[in-house]
Amino acid sequence: MNDIYKNEILNDIKDIEDIYIAGHVNPDGDAVASVFSLALYFETLGKRPHVLLECVPKRFDFMYGGEFFIALDEIDVKTAPDVFFAVDCGDRQRLGKAAEVFDNAKLTYCIDHHRTNVGFADKNVINADASSASEIVFELLKGFGYEPEKNIKIATDIYSGIVFDTGGFRHNCTGRRTHEIAGMLVEGGVDTSFIQSKVLFEHTLPQARLFGKALANMQHKDGVTYTTLTLDEMSECGCTSQDLDGIVDFILNLDVSECAVLVTQRSENSAKASVRSKKFPIADIVVSLGGGGHALAAGVTLDGSAAEVCDRIVSLITDGLKNG
Ligand code: AMP
Ligand code: MN
Ligand code: MN
Repeated sequence: MNDIYKNEILNDIKDIEDIYIAGHVNPDGDAVASVFSLALYFETLGKRPHVLLECVPKRFDFMYGGEFFIALDEIDVKTAPDVFFAVDCGDRQRLGKAAEVFDNAKLTYCIDHHRTNVGFADKNVINADASSASEIVFELLKGFGYEPEKNIKIATDIYSGIVFDTGGFRHNCTGRRTHEIAGMLVEGGVDTSFIQSKVLFEHTLPQARLFGKALANMQHKDGVTYTTLTLDEMSECGCTSQDLDGIVDFILNLDVSECAVLVTQRSENSAKASVRSKKFPIADIVVSLGGGGHALAAGVTLDGSAAEVCDRIVSLITDGLKNG
């Protein structure tokens, strides 16, 4: 992968100063880390990176590169970049409002690890075997000559993204190469315990209250553990949809769970489902509903109340489990 894209990317951006980079809406730790690390690297080449993200969730504000961040609300959708990198996005829609800027770009790249990605950019660096977009960014930068010890900010971001998407090197997307890369980043000096605590374990008091609510609403049926949260329940706890980390993973880890579903209301008549599985591949079911993701972790937003969306998805999964 490195060799094919090494010359191509560097050649493509040779005479370009302003580089646009965007991650997916509702950005997670991998989305933030991968776009910021790429931006920090382009800065070392004397470029002006612009990072388009819906927001930078507070828990990821320890990551470096925040100076490049532009909120989607503030972007001029008429911007026509010379080059645009879509990172950690399985499809164009996942860019949200940044998709319009993507459409205006002269040249588009997609850097991603979602198996459902069909390659929606002009040039696509997609590796579904990579643990995270951050891992792919590392491979690219290494191909360009990047060495972790020479830029600890980039190393910290990449390690954070990998830790986030692998759940601390636990998910099955974690490969030998993931550990090798982590080893190189550790050798470069990243503070592993600080990053692990920040990315995986630190929660706010409102989040803890929301966790309680999600567990109080939890139900279980035929191997599927599921729960819902309405907008009122989230706001009663002082939370938003940015505060959901850890909930679906916790209910998946229950001994009775083969699959887990968390459905959260997003507007009057739409709800987002986060689906997780220990073994049974759930991506096909979620993709058939218009969503995307990975074999064991996928998501979709559907019309309906949280309870309706949850019923619909849970019955598809219980059917799948029975027939599979
Ligand atoms: P989440 O449940 O939001 O943590 O997402 C799990 C995985 O599914 C991640 O890899 C997401 O990028 C992907 N994903 C989540 N929601 C969607 C969606 N609406 N469309 C496509 N992919 C999604
Ligand atoms: Mn992501
Ligand atoms: Mn990712």
